[in-house]
Amino acid sequence: MKIDLYDKKRLGIYVHVPFCLSKCAYCDFNSFVPGDDIIMTDYVGAVISHMEDYREAGRGYVVDSVYFGGGTPTALPQKELKRLLLAVGRNFELSKKAEFTVEVNPGTADLSLFRMMKRCGVNRISMGLQSADNKELAALSRCHTRQDFVSCFRLARQAGFDNLSVDLMFGIPGQTTASLMKSLAFVMRMEPEHISLYNLKIEPGTPFYAKRDELRAVLPSEDEEFEMYRAAAEAMKKRGYMQYEISNFSRFGFRCIHNLKYWNCEEYLGFGVSAHSYFNSARFAFIDSVDKYIAAVKDKGAALRLTKENETVESRERMGEYIMLRFRLNDGLGSVDFARRFGVSFESIYGGKILKYLKNGLMEKREGSYALTTAGMFVSNYILSDILEFEDLGSLTGSIT
Ligand code: SF4
Repeated sequence: MKIDLYDKKRLGIYVHVPFCLSKCAYCDFNSFVPGDDIIMTDYVGAVISHMEDYREAGRGYVVDSVYFGGGTPTALPQKELKRLLLAVGRNFELSKKAEFTVEVNPGTADLSLFRMMKRCGVNRISMGLQSADNKELAALSRCHTRQDFVSCFRLARQAGFDNLSVDLMFGIPGQTTASLMKSLAFVMRMEPEHISLYNLKIEPGTPFYAKRDELRAVLPSEDEEFEMYRAAAEAMKKRGYMQYEISNFSRFGFRCIHNLKYWNCEEYLGFGVSAHSYFNSARFAFIDSVDKYIAAVKDKGAALRLTKENETVESRERMGEYIMLRFRLNDGLGSVDFARRFGVSFESIYGGKILKYLKNGLMEKREGSYALTTAGMFVSNYILSDILEFEDLGSLTGSIT
């Protein structure tokens, strides 16, 4: 049911679809290539049943963002994807203006699929292009070409989607600043409303990790990566794509409402394997095995047993989380908002720590807010680990995810 009552609490819904057509060499997401359609049908049934279990808990909320991610949601058979899309509105109250995103891999969607999604209420498509250079796509072992992306993008427009986002990557083996800028120029000519720019990370357990020594010779250096990030951010700004988060740029009015919920510490419920939630002041996540997930959902009333972590977030921890998430955003952290949330001033606790970053240009203060500059965003992990006094989160290249 679609309603528009903003006196209710707002909620985001995330649905994880862990299936892909093939596995990319760098990918450490919970996704795999299914052996047959039966597992996909069973999984969709389990996710729907799981949503039904939360229907009562969701009363009193209005859903203003839905996000289907993965994996590749469009790897599902069309009728299964449709079943899953419709289940959201059947179990939760959807705002008439809800942002409803589905991630699409180029080459996995035709016109009829886009039209079906549109009819089901989807109004935003996020396409994982990663690079417009076919050699770089092959190096990433992506299952599509630049031409597949062009066709897919045009079909989405033809079906009436007026809010399209494109993912690009930097730090790809063999990539140069010049080749990234060509990919970016190509994407901007297609005029999507939103662009995400991620840094390739070599994650343990992936084929890339197994051959990391060999890859070192063809991976861009940290200095080159910083130049790529800086140049791309500048080029997007010139074309009207304003940066609003470390990795995200949009035309006016097209910031991703769903992702902003994560960074603003707002409530969301996740369904499916590995899906995380922040609901009623508790954070929890579901197990990552598809078989165990399906079995546990069938065991009615045992939904919570799926949970592998279920913690009430304490105030001090919430403060740390809030700082980490707010410094991802261009708007940064507002002193007044911080004091209102935590009853203590940001400066009284962290004023000494942030001074050097304000002096060296990695952070700036504007209109009562502290925010990282572009250079600061590139090394955000180091800055945050210093401010919050925890072990740093890895290399510079790990700072933009
Ligand atoms: S398409 Fe996305 S989720 Fe699937 S294997 Fe590639 S990177 Fe991973």
